[in-house]
Amino acid sequence: MSRPFQPLQSAIRVSLLGTALALAPVTSMVGAAFAAAPMVKTQAPGFYRMMLGDFEVTAISDGTVKLPMKDLLTNTTPAKVDAALKRAAIAYPIETAVNAYLINTGSKLVLIDTGAAGLFGPTLGNLLTNLKAPGYQPEQIDEIYITHMHADHVGGLMTSGAGAAIAFPNATLRIDKADTDYWLSEANMNAAPADGKGFFQGAMASVNPYVAAGKLKTFEGGVELVPGIRSQATHGHTAGHSVYIVESKGEKLVLWGDLMHVAAVQFENPAVTIKFDSDVKAAAKERVKAYADAAKGGYIVGVSHISFPGLGRVRANAGGKGYSWIPVNYSSLK
Ligand SMILES: [Zn+2]
Repeated sequence: MSRPFQPLQSAIRVSLLGTALALAPVTSMVGAAFAAAPMVKTQAPGFYRMMLGDFEVTAISDGTVKLPMKDLLTNTTPAKVDAALKRAAIAYPIETAVNAYLINTGSKLVLIDTGAAGLFGPTLGNLLTNLKAPGYQPEQIDEIYITHMHADHVGGLMTSGAGAAIAFPNATLRIDKADTDYWLSEANMNAAPADGKGFFQGAMASVNPYVAAGKLKTFEGGVELVPGIRSQATHGHTAGHSVYIVESKGEKLVLWGDLMHVAAVQFENPAVTIKFDSDVKAAAKERVKAYADAAKGGYIVGVSHISFPGLGRVRANAGGKGYSWIPVNYSSLK
């Protein structure tokens, strides 16, 4: 069976050789001409698509921010954090991703978290640009589900800069009532220490315009929000922290929000917490539970602060020694 292909193969070889010879002087000229090309120093647009059953999922990057995690992680020591980062070859301060996820169910376009807009420094706030890059317009978003009301998750509800406006004018905003009750309370803000008031101000500036426009619809605990997407209470990191479970045709994706901040540290030891946890004990409990469930279930998780696109699976290490992160295999969707 191989014989008929031989003449073709030799023809290809001859023609490639001919092309190579013909191009040789041109190639060296091109090489010389581009040697002084300017360095670009920017990334490609930050979106990544995958299919989940009949749903199309687009991870959208809001950017990255360098964080001093040795000062922020708790229930560990800076030396232990240092050692874990060295093992994972992660530079310090840790360049931390801020990811959001767009789910097209076929009938609804649902955005889960919105990035920071201008509330968390100049390296974040790219969500709108990276939402438009794969062809969406903010007016098309039907629903927005928030994991919790920290600035890097709700900031993008409003456009940044002077004259800030609602960024998603046709969307209904869904948040667990425990989070809106906590973060939209003036009394709670007044009672907070000076360095904690900014969290409330960011949450109020982002969500109150939706309240005023009659677009906020809270929920309590586990609720089906649209067919195929439901909330699940994982309260602890904040009073109403929720994850979102997306299911289509037997495939499952769980969007974790802030159940994970530093993969290199917390998969090894899920008991590691962070200063931003409202209720440290409850947050640690939810993390331990979520990692074990993901390892057992084998489903995909999408994580706000794992290296973009933050999509992968969790595997339990042998001997009960924590977990490993298995990023999804890159797909061109062809
Ligand atoms: Zn966060």
